[in-house]
Amino acid sequence: MTATMIDGKAFAAGLRARVAEGAARIFAEAGRRPGLAVVLVGDDPASSVYVRSKGKATVAAGMESFEHRLPASTGEAELLALVAQLNADPAVDGILVQLPLPKHIDERAVITSIDPEKDVDGFHPVNAGRLATGLEGFVPCTPYGCLMLIKDQLGDLAGRDAVVIGRSNIVGKPMAQLLIRESCTVTVAHSRTHDLPDVVRRADIVVAAVGRPAMVKPDWVKPGATLIDVGINRTDAGLVGDIDPACAEVAGAMTPVPGGVGPMTIACLLRNTLVSASRRLGVAYAI
Ligand code: NDP
Repeated sequence: MTATMIDGKAFAAGLRARVAEGAARIFAEAGRRPGLAVVLVGDDPASSVYVRSKGKATVAAGMESFEHRLPASTGEAELLALVAQLNADPAVDGILVQLPLPKHIDERAVITSIDPEKDVDGFHPVNAGRLATGLEGFVPCTPYGCLMLIKDQLGDLAGRDAVVIGRSNIVGKPMAQLLIRESCTVTVAHSRTHDLPDVVRRADIVVAAVGRPAMVKPDWVKPGATLIDVGINRTDAGLVGDIDPACAEVAGAMTPVPGGVGPMTIACLLRNTLVSASRRLGVAYAI
């Protein structure tokens, strides 16, 4: 058996096109475009590339992009002052502070200073709490994108066994919450999990968000399972995910790296920004 390769790139392109239609409608009805502010502190090359591609995608979707690039020496108070200014700016519907921040800045303080109604990354504890308690809020983009791909592949997820490997606040935990919301039976594995291969072998759905190249092996995989690879590992052989590509011989469907989950993250960010703008402006949207 060879797994179906899930084309995240094509799915994300479709989502971005629907977001662009929504943005055009908001412009027609409310007279302004949805606005996304992205803040980058320092000159981490990977972060710089992410920020540039987020800005480009925002403009391509017919939205306003406000980019703030600050030097690595920026103090916490200065960054908090910028966030306060963006919170108060009516042209800004979404605020994203690119992580990681330089060591001298308390990430938690910055994330909690963002207005939860503009927190399109979904990292604010208020939005994490909303997700955990079944309230409307912003869901972190990467797990939200993974869920869209899983549902597109499998339809109704009720009763399926899902294993999420990784328990970070930005991927693993919200991914588990989303799968619980879909009535999956969810196991969250992490570095202290005993016999990970055995845990993974039970799963109909595996989401790997660890950061270890090709960690999930073919003999860990239940035949026919759906595998979602969040990992982005830069190796001498190029970009590699957390799932060994040889798992395609056992899985029913899996995401490639690159071209799987990656493109979904930005598309979901644009979607969240559109949702924020439509709420704030009282314009209905449908995507
Ligand atoms: P973190 O480093 O915050 O979390 C990694 C998780 O993996 C932790 O919960 C850790 O466990 C667990 N882990 C580490 N080693 C093992 C092991 N041997 N067995 C089982 N679990 C283990 O990473 P993120 O969640 O931020 O990101 C995960 C990966 O996803 C990275 O490769 C990152 O680059 C990528 N990523 C991709 C995105 C995209 O757009 N495609 C977006 C965000 C991230 P413990 O908690 O016990 O330490």
